[in-house]
Amino acid sequence: MGTTTVDLLVIGGGMAGLSAATRVAAEGDSVVLVEKAEATGGSARFAGFVWTAPTVEEMRRVNPDGDPDLAAALLDGFTDGVAWIRSLGVECQPPVPVLGFGRGHQVDTNHYLDTCERLIRERGQEVLTSTWTHALVTENGVVKGADCLLPDGSERRIEATWTLLATGGFQGDPGLRAEYVHPQAADIGLRANPHSRGDGLTLGRSAGAAFGRKDAGFYGHLMPAGVSLADPARFVDLALYYSEHALLFDTTGERFVDETVGDHLTTMALLERPGARGLLVADARVHREWISASYVEGIPGVDKFQLCHRAGARSAVADSLEDFASMPEEWGYPGATIRDRIEEFNTAARANGALEPGRLLDRRPLDEPPFYVVEAAPAITFTFGGLLIDAGAHALAADGNGRSPVPGLLAAGADAGGLYRRAYAGGLAPALVFGLAAARTALGESPAAPVH
Ligand SMILES: Cc1cc2nc3c(=O)[nH]c(=O)nc-3n(C[C@H](O)[C@H](O)[C@H](O)COP(=O)(O)OP(=O)(O)OC[C@H]3O[C@@H](n4cnc5c(N)ncnc54)[C@H](O)[C@@H]3O)c2cc1C
Repeated sequence: MGTTTVDLLVIGGGMAGLSAATRVAAEGDSVVLVEKAEATGGSARFAGFVWTAPTVEEMRRVNPDGDPDLAAALLDGFTDGVAWIRSLGVECQPPVPVLGFGRGHQVDTNHYLDTCERLIRERGQEVLTSTWTHALVTENGVVKGADCLLPDGSERRIEATWTLLATGGFQGDPGLRAEYVHPQAADIGLRANPHSRGDGLTLGRSAGAAFGRKDAGFYGHLMPAGVSLADPARFVDLALYYSEHALLFDTTGERFVDETVGDHLTTMALLERPGARGLLVADARVHREWISASYVEGIPGVDKFQLCHRAGARSAVADSLEDFASMPEEWGYPGATIRDRIEEFNTAARANGALEPGRLLDRRPLDEPPFYVVEAAPAITFTFGGLLIDAGAHALAADGNGRSPVPGLLAAGADAGGLYRRAYAGGLAPALVFGLAAARTALGESPAAPVH
């Protein structure tokens, strides 16, 4: 077996891993980045906005059960992270609002990822693609690298002072989804790269790193039920972001969540309903104002209903609420109950009466025919549970007195857990900020060292 020795071994070449490896290589330290897929980039290739909550207070409001120290570290590092992207000559647009409460920059993510890979190689450091990491190397509890299988079948041991797990979470593994997210999560759609299957979690736990937090949930969106997501273009095209202005009914014909507070939150709630599917109902006004409109400033709107319909989704246009009573039986929903619930909702909304569940951000009635109906199901983008870390991206072990770092081991991006609990304020930003934090730890810099 060949052996290489470096300052930092990075396992996973997406947003977190490439950011860390590039920063370390830029300082002249040695690094090997190992990527399982044929090409680097991971889910970050599909993402476009580096964003998060604008203030600690806002983060606490939307994510009250997340780790406050990690949240503070994310906000502290956000501006430097954006400056780092710009320092590589990658365009970052001026800030815009995201998801109502957040703020962030549209970034040419592919340019950033490709620039990172090029810079690592230009510094004479290695990027190994199609390479499988099967075990961490440990000595007396200290992580000292990993054993990898190269595409030609040969084995390579990469010894490293620091090893960073950045494999992007476990959303690609149905068994882990069922175990750590929800039993019904085994069967939900994947709207992410297919390679993030919990390898970082397995490797980290083998070295004593702790998983957290329990019941943290996941980031995802409602997608048309039963429609294949094999084509990544569908991850965004078919995402039913407009659910925030629609009504969602489960298979018993009841509303069960305040749809207006966020499609990503409704997605988690739907996972727990019978069969993890529901009927999403909009009217002509919602169609005009939201279904065909832009979701984030700078991204042109498309008629999602049409796209879903053409993709073969269970969908229909109802000329009146009466049509709901003759909903096809094989759909498996009580159409007359749903009609009644919509009428009750509209009566209460018009009278400014109580709504149950509430409608915090949009109380307008849905009473302008025709009605646009799509069967929706949750799809997962990345998991919130992962290896517990501190602000320096050290992976933490559970011990009797709390948490202590696993020597030599770092984790960042969706491999890291604790930041969010059933709440979301950006995926690229934590991958960037904690990827750069991991680089600082590997470089022996103090946490506050500026990016240059
Ligand atoms: C359609 C879509 C749109 C999105 N839009 C946004 C957005 O606008 N803003 C935002 O903040 N977030 C967005 N996200 C989420 C964002 O992409 C992720 O949060 C971010 O990429 C996480 O970074 P990461 O480095 O943890 O994982 P990734 O970027 O996914 O990288 C993980 C890498 O690890 C590799 N890997 C897996 N297993 C192994 C292994 N055993 N060995 C080596 N390599 C391995 C994978 O192949 C992959 O390349 C979006 C995601 C998707 C799918």
